[in-house]
Amino acid sequence: MTDVVDVFDILRPVLVRGDAGVHLAPLDWAERKDIDTLCGLPIARASLRATFERDGCLTCARRAVGTGISAFREGPRVVVNLMRFVDDRGLQAPRRR
Ligand SMILES: [Zn+2]
Repeated sequence: MTDVVDVFDILRPVLVRGDAGVHLAPLDWAERKDIDTLCGLPIARASLRATFERDGCLTCARRAVGTGISAFREGPRVVVNLMRFVDDRGLQAPRRR
């Protein structure tokens, strides 16, 4: 298993075409053509602004948490807590399944 600290660096924020939200993709997405976002969308480019807390994709966040990744590094000094993000958004959703 991977060390908890290293796990923060496994994901990167990315943008997709036709959607203003910020999604998550594996760290090495730029080197491989066969990688999509965690929610299955084709990646357009890296997200340069740290706005996941506001514009993040809940599906991507849920999948990351589901695989045991509770946070990711959005910038040199910004670590987004995905567990808390999913909890906050989940409570706002009308129904949970
Ligand atoms: Zn997504």
